[in-house]
Amino acid sequence: MISESCAHIEAIESIKRPARAECEECVKIGAEWVHLRTCQECGVTLCCDSSPNRHATKHSHASGHPVIASAQPGERWLYCYTDDAFVQY
Ligand SMILES: [Zn+2]
Ligand SMILES: [Zn+2]
Ligand SMILES: [Zn+2]
Repeated sequence: MISESCAHIEAIESIKRPARAECEECVKIGAEWVHLRTCQECGVTLCCDSSPNRHATKHSHASGHPVIASAQPGERWLYCYTDDAFVQY
């Protein structure tokens, strides 16, 4: 258990899970993705930094939403862009 937490992660009471296993933005433009992340502020599911379009990171920078959760089956972690904090749960 890694506990490199931050105030944003501490404030999360229930973790938002993906509504659908797809990147909303990639679907619109017909792009491919590698892994999925779910924004813990608004619940949108977007693609990771290994994906060509990096929609989750772009969303965080554009919206100011700091925390994502992995939306991959079997992965249980949260990441805060603002604090570069990573927590497994
Ligand atoms: Zn934080
Ligand atoms: Zn995407
Ligand atoms: Zn968001």
